Amino acid sequence: MSMEIIENYIDGKLVAPNSNQYIDNFCPSTGEVYAKIPNSDIDDVQKAVESAKNAFPIWKNLSIEKRSSYLYKIADEIENQFDQFAHAETKDNGKPFKLSKHVDIPRAIANFRFYAGAVLHFASESHKGNQDFINYTLREPIGVAACISPWNLPLYLFSWKIAPALATGNTVVAKPSEVTPYTAYLLSKVCQKVGLPNGVLNIVHGIGAKAGHAMVSHPDVPTISFTGGTKTGQNIAKITAPMFKKLSLELGGKNPTIVFEDCQIEEAVKTSVKAAYTNQGEICLCGSRIYVQKSIYQKFKNAFIERMKTLHVGEPMSEDSKIGAIVSKQHYEKILEHIDLAKQEGGKLLFGGKTVQPEGFENGWYIEPTLFENLNESCRTNQEEIFGPVATIQPFENEDEVIQLANSTPYGLSTSIWTNNLAKAHRVAAKVNVGIVWINCWLVRDLRTPFGGMKQSGLGREGGWEAIRFFTEAKNVCVSTQV
Ligand code: NAD
Repeated sequence: MSMEIIENYIDGKLVAPNSNQYIDNFCPSTGEVYAKIPNSDIDDVQKAVESAKNAFPIWKNLSIEKRSSYLYKIADEIENQFDQFAHAETKDNGKPFKLSKHVDIPRAIANFRFYAGAVLHFASESHKGNQDFINYTLREPIGVAACISPWNLPLYLFSWKIAPALATGNTVVAKPSEVTPYTAYLLSKVCQKVGLPNGVLNIVHGIGAKAGHAMVSHPDVPTISFTGGTKTGQNIAKITAPMFKKLSLELGGKNPTIVFEDCQIEEAVKTSVKAAYTNQGEICLCGSRIYVQKSIYQKFKNAFIERMKTLHVGEPMSEDSKIGAIVSKQHYEKILEHIDLAKQEGGKLLFGGKTVQPEGFENGWYIEPTLFENLNESCRTNQEEIFGPVATIQPFENEDEVIQLANSTPYGLSTSIWTNNLAKAHRVAAKVNVGIVWINCWLVRDLRTPFGGMKQSGLGREGGWEAIRFFTEAKNVCVSTQV
C-alpha cells in the first residue's frame, strides 16, 4: 500500500499541521498503516477559527439561494466521485463495501441535498396577538460552529452536521474522527473544486483531546454539534458550561429490541439480527439487548441463531461479507474484553465469541457476531455500550416487565418494538424512555424527523427543522401597528 498524506483544509487551502507532526491511519481489514494524518494542535485550530470568523459576515449575507446552490454542488461532486468515496470509507472504517455504497455515501449526498432544499423552505414564526401588536421571529446564524463526529458512519455523520450549519449561514470548523479521516479529506477537495468560498468550511484533523479540545474550548466558537461517546460528551459539557455555548450532543446507546408474542416472527427475527450486527454492531442505534416474550422465546432464539449463521465475517470488499473488520485494534481489544466479561458475569454463549482471520487478511481485526443469554439487566454487559457485534437475549413475561427492562440502563437513544397489536405498540412506544422508536421496523430514517436521545444518550435533536433551529439564534421582534 502506498502511504498517503492527509492535510488540513484551512482557509480554502490544503495545509500541513503547524507542528509538522502526523499520526498513523490504519486500514482495519489488513491492520496496516496506509495514511498519515495531521496531529493538529491549538495553533491549527486557531487558524481555522480565524478563517471561519472572517468568512462569516460574507457567508451569512449571501442569499439563501446562493448558499443552497453551494450545498447542491458539493452533493453533485460527491456523487461524481461516488466510487472513490465508497472505497475510501470501506478502507478507512472496515465496513462492508455494500454499506459504503448503499448507505454511507448516498446518505452523505442526501444530507447536503436535504439541507440545501430545507433552508429554501424554512419559514420563521409570526404571532399576531391583540389588534395593536405583531411579533415575528428572526432566525439568525450564530457564527463559527464546531462540528465533531465519530468513526462509525464517518462522512454520513460529518455531513449531517456540516450541511445544516452551512445552510443556515454559519461558518464551520470541523473535525472528523482521527480513526476515519479519509472521506473528510476528500470532502475538502470537493469544496475546493466547487469553489466554496475560503474559510466557510475548515477541516482540522487530529486527536480529540488536543485538536477537538481546542475547538470546543475556543472562545470564538459559540456552537458545538458533537456526536460520539457519552464520556466525551460529558467532558465537553463540563468545559463549555461556564461559556454558555450552544450544545447538541448525540451520544451512546444500549438499545432494547422488544419482541411480543403476537408479532410477525420471521420479520422480527430478520430485522433484529440486522439491528444487532449491521456495521459490526458499530451503530449507536444497534439493538444490543433483545427481549422476547416467553411463549415464543425458544422459537425466536433458534431462528435468530440460524440467521446469525448466514452473517459471513470477511474482508469488507468481498460481496459475500456481511460483517467486515472492527474499526481499530484498540476497539477490537475492548470488544474482546467485553466478551470475556460477559462470560465472567455468567453469560451463556449461544453463538460466536471468537476472532476471525480471513485468508490473506490475517492481521485485520475481525470478530464473529456474538450472542449471550442468562445475563440479568444490572450486569455490566447489559448496562454498558459495547459498540461491537455483541448482543444479549432474554425472555420476559409481560408488558410491564419489558418496559422496566427496556428502561433499566442510563441510556435512552432508541428502541424497536415488534407486535401486531396496534394499541400495545403505541402504549409501549410512549413508555420507553428513548428519543427514537421503531415499530415493526428498524433504522428507517426520514431526514425530516427529530433525531436524538434521552438520558445519557444526549442533549438536543438533529434532523429536519430541529437542526435548523439549533444552528440559529431566535430573536423575537415585537411591532406596534398603532404608532
Ligand atoms: P469519541 O467520543 O471517542 O470521539 C468522537 C469524536 O470526538 C472524535 O472526532 C474525537 O476525536 C473527538 N473527541 C474526543 N475527545 C474529545 C474532546 N475531549 N474534546 C473534543 N472532541 C473530542 O467517540 P467514538 O469512539 O469516535 O465513537 C463512538 C461513540 O459514538 C459511541 O459511543 C456511539 O454510540 C456514539 N455515536 C452516537 C451517535 C448518535 O447519534 N447518538 C451516532 C454515532 C455514534
